[in-house]
Amino acid sequence: MESIALRDAAPRPRETTEFDALIIGAGFSGMYQLHTLRDRLGLSVQVLEAADGVGGTWYWNRYPGARCDSESHSYCYSFSDDLIRDWEWSERYPEQPEIIRYLNFVADRLDLKRDICFNTRVASAEYDEPANRWHVTTEAGERFTAQYLITAVGCLSTANIPDLPGLDTFAGDWYHTGLWPHEGVDFTGKRVIQIGTGSTGIQSAPVIARSAAHLTVLQRTPNYSVPARNAPLSAEFRQWVKDHFPEIRSVMRSTTNGHPFRITDRSVFDVSAEERLDIYEEAWQRGGLQFRASFRDILSDQAANDTAAEFIKHKIRQIVKDPATAAKLSDIDHPYAAKRPPIDTDYFETFNRDNVELVDVRADPIEAITPTGVRLRSGAEHPADIIVFATGFDAMTGALTRMGIRGRDGLPLTKAWEAGPHNYLGLQVAGFPNMFTITGPGSPSVLCNMPVAIEQHVEWITNCIAYLRKQGLARIEALPDAADQWVQQVNEAARATLLPKAHHSWYLGANVPGKPRVFMPYAGGLARYRSICDEVAATGYQGFALGV
Ligand SMILES: Cc1cc2nc3c(=O)[nH]c(=O)nc-3n(C[C@H](O)[C@H](O)[C@H](O)COP(=O)(O)OP(=O)(O)OC[C@H]3O[C@@H](n4cnc5c(N)ncnc54)[C@H](O)[C@@H]3O)c2cc1C
Repeated sequence: MESIALRDAAPRPRETTEFDALIIGAGFSGMYQLHTLRDRLGLSVQVLEAADGVGGTWYWNRYPGARCDSESHSYCYSFSDDLIRDWEWSERYPEQPEIIRYLNFVADRLDLKRDICFNTRVASAEYDEPANRWHVTTEAGERFTAQYLITAVGCLSTANIPDLPGLDTFAGDWYHTGLWPHEGVDFTGKRVIQIGTGSTGIQSAPVIARSAAHLTVLQRTPNYSVPARNAPLSAEFRQWVKDHFPEIRSVMRSTTNGHPFRITDRSVFDVSAEERLDIYEEAWQRGGLQFRASFRDILSDQAANDTAAEFIKHKIRQIVKDPATAAKLSDIDHPYAAKRPPIDTDYFETFNRDNVELVDVRADPIEAITPTGVRLRSGAEHPADIIVFATGFDAMTGALTRMGIRGRDGLPLTKAWEAGPHNYLGLQVAGFPNMFTITGPGSPSVLCNMPVAIEQHVEWITNCIAYLRKQGLARIEALPDAADQWVQQVNEAARATLLPKAHHSWYLGANVPGKPRVFMPYAGGLARYRSICDEVAATGYQGFALGV
């Protein structure tokens, strides 16, 4: 692992607009990519970032209860022993303020900020074939060029605000959780409507309910959730992590999901019904995403999945006192973990509060926002002073397709992906030479503990560019056949699981009207994916055209 030396902090003159590489985005991905290309390969690099600080997801998502579901000791960079040694997490799952502090600590340690243009949103990126360069224009009209374009724009960075009639007439305030005001929102004494019960809504509702006068949760898709069992980390555990980080890293890099635990080898039906209940109960008490790891076939076998699903539904009915509310919350129509599996702190318990109400908008859909609240198709009106949209993101492709990217012969990315994302290894699109997409669709990304997936992509891209330079090559481009075959592999990997059975899932693009329904992440597991990518590199970048 590398040890970090501080570099000379002299700022580059702002007039310089020609670089070896441009990186778009300064979250986990863009920050590490800047470090590797600049400090390991010695390239001239510029990062362009729409926000006025680093952190990406954790810069934008400041809603009440915003917290990581990955455990803190795994939700961090693992490439540097120095960073591991010098950072202390306080809780089992870090809250947004702690993660943003961590990412600023890394940015300062690695002296990254001097090569990041903040408040700079990319409006277009066009490939110039004769010059073999990318021309990037920002919303403010600044222009930059580079040989390599690396998108680090995030899978969950484009807020999905439903196009509801009447929103502009609403007399109160409304917010999307992914674009939360930095000064916070005071809910004291307010009537709040929260729309959405995905991972975010499950985190925010209990916190909003504590200060609001009344909270109405509008639920379209009921969701499973397992208690997070968050707690402060003991000094012993923190020391244990530091002492054992090499083993933790090797587990994270060799498992399906990049988490620091292994999925057990036993199958649901290897054990008796009683033993199974004990195993689920023990996992429920331990809390967190490890619940999924109780059996190896939970995500591949419907009957196996049913046992986990029924266990959680039973828990919901036990926790929630009002039988009608419990029935609405547990009327879940997809397999457990086929949508991003949330973990929570008192989500179901929140519905036992006197000031909280659950409304089923699958049965009675939202018709319009009115000046005073939300009206449903039946005519029922729900009053609100504040509306919170916990409605997620135009996931995985949204940030890429809204950036005006054009490849060879002016081909827009939106055209190339008309029928859904199409690329090779989730890393490169045919017709877009020298453009790399960190955690692009077709890679494991959101099915993983993402820092581990991000590090794998960043290191692969860095090694690829190093190889090209060593060989005196100037260009790399995915071959259309290789991309076709990869898309087939992505589809096959998804079909081998229960994931496509969640028809409303953002994994399929189903939350955004008009978006093609394609299962986007690679479901074959991070370990398998890593070995495929390594093999491609080891055989001289098979499936890519390399040129001078
Ligand atoms: C609420 C929430 C909770 C999450 N919890 C977990 C978790 O528990 N575990 C986990 O592994 N992952 C989690 N994630 C996923 C999380 O997105 C990743 O872990 C990680 O932060 C992604 O880093 P990134 O750098 O790839 O993307 P991001 O952090 O999304 O950063 C992308 C950056 O690109 C910038 N950008 C986008 N478009 C442009 C443009 N056109 N011009 C300039 N800049 C642009 C954005 O402003 C943003 O700063 C969560 C996501 C959300 C939203």
